[in-house]
Amino acid sequence: MAGGPGSYVFGAEEKKELMDVIESGNLFRYGSPGVDGFQAKVATFETEMAERLGHKHVVATSSGTGALMCCLAALGIGAGDEVIVPGYTFIASISTIILMNAIPVLAEIDESLTIDPTRIEELITPRTKAIMPVHMLGNPCDMDAIMAIAKKHNLYVIEDCCQAVGASYRGRRCGTIGDIGAYSLNVFKTITSGDGGFVGTSDLNLYERAFGFHDQGHKPRRMGVEVGRRSIVGMNMRMNELSGAVALAQGRKLDGMLDTLRTKKKRLKDQLQGLPGLGFRSINDEGECATLLTLLFDTAERAAKFCEAMGTAPISNSGWHVYNNMEQILNKVTASGANCPYDCPRFESTVEYHKHMLPQTDDILDRAVNISVGVVDKGLGSGCGININSSEAEIDAEATRIRAVVAAL
Ligand SMILES: *Cc1c(COP(=O)(O)O)cnc(C)c1O
Repeated sequence: MAGGPGSYVFGAEEKKELMDVIESGNLFRYGSPGVDGFQAKVATFETEMAERLGHKHVVATSSGTGALMCCLAALGIGAGDEVIVPGYTFIASISTIILMNAIPVLAEIDESLTIDPTRIEELITPRTKAIMPVHMLGNPCDMDAIMAIAKKHNLYVIEDCCQAVGASYRGRRCGTIGDIGAYSLNVFKTITSGDGGFVGTSDLNLYERAFGFHDQGHKPRRMGVEVGRRSIVGMNMRMNELSGAVALAQGRKLDGMLDTLRTKKKRLKDQLQGLPGLGFRSINDEGECATLLTLLFDTAERAAKFCEAMGTAPISNSGWHVYNNMEQILNKVTASGANCPYDCPRFESTVEYHKHMLPQTDDILDRAVNISVGVVDKGLGSGCGININSSEAEIDAEATRIRAVVAAL
């Protein structure tokens, strides 16, 4: 089965929350407490998740992509604004910037596989409005360095936590360090409601704007919906009560799941230490999610040989998450634009994109291989490894198999 750890631990808890909603007959996120059996699962999920992560406010959304758009809209990022984003990320980090009419400026990653803070300042122009660090594969970005740059240049920081729900950096949860954070609950993420996401912030104004953008401009929880009191033009990115019920149960399992993942990852990683030509990506904080183990070989050749023997691929060749493989971005193709007659309108950009424009990123990803610990996802290249339910014997067997392949390279 493919999916994230949350999808491996569904049980009586999810079923109970879900049945509450089905039996109430009210699947919509709004209702009056106590009236017609309204269960307020989405609202309860928001309150509990805010408390768990240390946000003052959380808005549940229908996806992580939607959550990212709400973050950009909340900050007022739009036409002509540049946002610095790493070239190794899921495409939604980049496409949401484009769809807000802003301009993604692609940055290099370092050996943590997150944005390289030493390569950010060279990208800053008078048009730069924000940095979007992505806590990739559950590993927190080097937030101290990123926040220092943001402060120096007066930039917003939007944390893309879609792959790092629950991770922490120096004692603070990812998403609470910058201005605002976006999270995903899709099936390949740490916890899941099938699809879904949320926005977290401690700024009341940003919360109200994010909420409004996610629901037709209404004030939080649809208070004050009277004509004349709606704040901005918005979308419908609402979560429904069915998703909210599952998200609620999964949220309550989050910290226990992260403990399990860290223990299992340690057992696997400990057995792979000291092999010739093999290292690991650097981890910026032990509070990482431990959803994946990323091997980093000394040469691309060794990584390729290893992958061939294991039936997997280096990250550079694993598909969707690498800018080189995002043809829509490289070709600047959007669905609509000036005089769109359906013939591939291109988005306006102050910067150009082309294959291999980020040589440092390419070099690292050619040498990097993902082994699953909790996230089993070929789209990330993690077609082999263990899952959150693997026994110690299974973990040891996978470690033995990997050791044997590395030894034979
Ligand atoms: C999954 C993901 C998203 C988008 O989340 P969806 O819920 O699939 O819309 C955005 N950014 C990153 C880094 C992701 O991994």
